[in-house]
Amino acid sequence: MLTPYFPEPYTYFSVDENQYAFEQALKKVKNDLGHTYPLVIDNKKISISNTFASVNPARPEEVIGRFAMGDASHADAAILAATRAFDEWRRVPVEERARYLLRASAEMRRRKHEFSAMMVFEVGKSWAEADADTAEAIDFLEYYARQMIRIADSTHALTSYPSELLQLKYIPLGVGAIISPWNFPLAIATGMVSAALVAGNTVVFKPAEQSPYVAYKMCELFWNNGIPAGVLNFITGDGAVVGGRMVEHPQTRFISFTGSKEVGVSIYEKGAKVQAGQKWLKRMILEMGGKDGIIVDETANLDDAARGIVASAFGFQGQKCSACSRAIIVDSVYDVVAKRVIELTNELVMGATDSSWKVNVGPVIDQDAVDKITKYIGIGAGEGELLTGGKLVETVDNGYFIQPTVFGGVNPSARVSQEEIFGPVLAMSRVRDFDEALKIANGTDYGLTGAVYSNNRYRLEEARKEFFVGNLYLNRKSTGAIVGVHPFGGFNMSGTDSKAGGPDYLLHFTQAKSIAEKL
Ligand code: NAD
Repeated sequence: MLTPYFPEPYTYFSVDENQYAFEQALKKVKNDLGHTYPLVIDNKKISISNTFASVNPARPEEVIGRFAMGDASHADAAILAATRAFDEWRRVPVEERARYLLRASAEMRRRKHEFSAMMVFEVGKSWAEADADTAEAIDFLEYYARQMIRIADSTHALTSYPSELLQLKYIPLGVGAIISPWNFPLAIATGMVSAALVAGNTVVFKPAEQSPYVAYKMCELFWNNGIPAGVLNFITGDGAVVGGRMVEHPQTRFISFTGSKEVGVSIYEKGAKVQAGQKWLKRMILEMGGKDGIIVDETANLDDAARGIVASAFGFQGQKCSACSRAIIVDSVYDVVAKRVIELTNELVMGATDSSWKVNVGPVIDQDAVDKITKYIGIGAGEGELLTGGKLVETVDNGYFIQPTVFGGVNPSARVSQEEIFGPVLAMSRVRDFDEALKIANGTDYGLTGAVYSNNRYRLEEARKEFFVGNLYLNRKSTGAIVGVHPFGGFNMSGTDSKAGGPDYLLHFTQAKSIAEKL
């Protein structure tokens, strides 16, 4: 019997013993850095001479691990292995499949700080952000295990019919191409992989080039638990080459992708083309970017609003699809909120995140991110007033640090207010009233998260109806969705409208079989 699902609690790092435990985990992970990792196809480790390095963005010379630069032939081999394994895995009872997730979850919970420490090193998460990422990964495992047991046989949902014996079963699809981003290197990878597996599919998993170490360690939890050969294959390499082949392969039955709008759109186009020998239309679950706005009106608690804006804009350096990158503030309170946002931004502590739990702003992920973000800071300087930040921060270790940056007086149609920057850059706009704010908030191609700070009941109700985002938050920040509590996923160019961590998510990984026997 399973206990009811309940989200994993976060760790309080102000408590000395938690700090100590986390420091031990950092030491342990540091001792494990620098190894070379293979591809894993059909449970066989395949080493190739061509490798790439995953590095610590705070000290790019520190190699986290070296990973195989796989190519299209490795994608083909992995898909072949997964195709063979599917025939057995699809017959494994749902409770048994769920147990693989529950065992992985138990082990991840035992090694919770170790997994979080990996993210501190590999992607520059603060302790608290890394802890939340690990908690979310545990939650996905626990939640999807229970959800799949609930939905696998949905016969109870049917209307009975005289003299017919009825059944409704949710059966797996086949081989899934799972392509994940680096910004939630554990939670999103775990969520996408475990959803596919527990639904009875076999998986070819390709993590982002920036975070293969965390991904490999997560897969080990399944391999070490004896998941059958070919059920979970791990391949690394260039996204366009390896991911591209996974998307177009005729034996790929579905694609589960989280990443940028540009890549998501290209996958949507490429995956839609029916290849020679392909017997199905590929299912595509694509979760993409955001340009998320927080509205503040004149009735709001302005200090709460400023805190929510700063936490949402600069948590994990603004590298969240749910990050607040636009603050839309009613004229009469604009100056007060802007002043407080700047004060709070200037209080943030920047540094290498392994140095202390008190550091809340670490490096951005890599040189490409530095180039893109600094380009947008240049654009923003011509579109609004630079209120704080705006500079690269040089460190002895050549880390990728950029000051949290706030632009004020930005026209809502300006590029920094419309395009996803994916870094610590906030554009604030002054608007006449709440109605105008709502129109502006809805005025991008995206529709992922949004928040409203107001104490006017009529406006909160209006936002419930008219603010067109997948995740709407009222009087709280726009980040920090919890599995099972805030099912997560966006509208429009933010994706294909699925809700990770929600009660209907696993239906995307299955197909319904309706059976009637005349008695
Ligand atoms: P990205 O699109 O650059 O890469 C994502 C993955 O796609 C990586 O594994 C990459 O190797 C792979 N890839 C790249 N080119 C490919 C191709 N041509 N074919 C197949 N695969 C390819 O995104 P990223 O930089 O890793 O992540 C940041 C983006 O992800 C942001 O836009 C962010 O908003 C978005 N994101 C969305 C959500 C969500 O739930 N909607 C969550 C997290 C991140």
